[in-house]
Amino acid sequence: MKEKIRFEIHLQKSMFHNPMFDNGLDTQELEIRKDPLTGRQSVFNPRLEGKAAVFFGSSDQELIDRIARESEPKCFLCEDRWKRMTPTYPESMVPGGRVIVGETVLFPNLFPVSRVHAVIRVGARHSIALRDFSPELVGEAFRAAREFSDLLYKADGASRFVTLNGNYLGPAGASIPHPHFQMLGSDLPFTHLEELLRLSHAYREAHSTCFWTDLIEKERQISQRFIGETGGVSWLTSFSPQGTNEVLGIVGDATNLREMTAEDFEDLARGFSAVMRAYAALGHSTFNFSLYSGPQDQTEKSFRCFLRIITRQNVYANYRTDDYFLQKLLRNEIILNTPEKLAQHMVREFASIPGKRRP
Ligand SMILES: [Zn+2]
Repeated sequence: MKEKIRFEIHLQKSMFHNPMFDNGLDTQELEIRKDPLTGRQSVFNPRLEGKAAVFFGSSDQELIDRIARESEPKCFLCEDRWKRMTPTYPESMVPGGRVIVGETVLFPNLFPVSRVHAVIRVGARHSIALRDFSPELVGEAFRAAREFSDLLYKADGASRFVTLNGNYLGPAGASIPHPHFQMLGSDLPFTHLEELLRLSHAYREAHSTCFWTDLIEKERQISQRFIGETGGVSWLTSFSPQGTNEVLGIVGDATNLREMTAEDFEDLARGFSAVMRAYAALGHSTFNFSLYSGPQDQTEKSFRCFLRIITRQNVYANYRTDDYFLQKLLRNEIILNTPEKLAQHMVREFASIPGKRRP
C-alpha cells in the first residue's frame, strides 16, 4: 500500500572551487525537503549548521530597552490610554465595545486588513522578554480570542474564516513593542488557509482519514520531531518548515475555533509558553504565529485547528531581513537548525510543563 504521508527528501550536490580550501574542488551536499501536505520546499545545507548567529545576529538588549523606553510614554496600549485611544465594536456585536479579560483587551484595528481585524493587548507591560510569555499571560489573551470568536459568529456569520496571529517586535513586523496579538475574520479564506483546507480535503478524499490526525500518529511513531502533548494538543517540529525554528501545535479534536474548548486554549497556551522559553534559550527575541481554523460554521472533518510558530530576525540595529527572494518569491525556506535537533531542544523545555503526558 502506498504510504499516506511521505517525508520526501531530494538530495543535491553543489560543486565549485573554494578559495577557503586552497581553491580545491568543494562539493556541498544539500537536502531539499518537501512538506508532506503542501509540497513546499525547504533546504538544509549541513555546512550552514551552527551558523545561525551569522544569519540572525545577536539580540541587542540595550537597543530593545531603549526602543521600549522611548515608545512607552506614547503607547496607546499602556496604562488606561487604550480606553480613549482605541476604537470599539458596535454594541450589537461586542457588548461594551471591547472584550476585556483581566489585563487583556480586544478592540478593532483602526486600519483593518480584513473584514474583521481585532487587536489584542497582551497584558499591561509594555516590553517583555520571550520567556515572560507565561501560560497565564498567553492563556488570558487566548480566552479573549475565544470569547470574540463566539461573539463574531453570532453577529457576523459571513466571517467564516478566522485566524489568531501574532508579530513580536520590529523584525517580526510589529509596529509597536507592546505585546499584542491580532485576529482576522473574513468571508474568504486567507491564501495559505485556503491551500491548507483544499489540500486537507483532497487528502481525506484520497485516504478517508484526516491528514492532521495521521500526521500526529506518524510523527509520534517516528518520534524524532515529536515534542509531546499538552492535554489535547500535540506538539511537533515541521519536517519541511516555512520559517525558522518552526513548531506546530495541533488541536486533536477541534476543526474550528468554535469547537475549541476553554481547556484546548489553556493547553495551547501552556505549549506556546514553553516554545517561547525554548526560543529564548536559543537567543531569539522575536516570533510570528498563526492559529489556523476551518470554517466556523461547519465541521470540516479533513482539518484540525493548529498553531504554527516561527522565530524571525533578531533585534539589532540595521538587522538584515530573513525573508529574501528565496522565501518571498520562490517560497522556499532555509533550515539552519534541523527540525530533529530543534525537537530535542523543545522536549527539554516541555519536560518542565506540569501535567504534561510524555510522548
Ligand atoms: Zn505599551
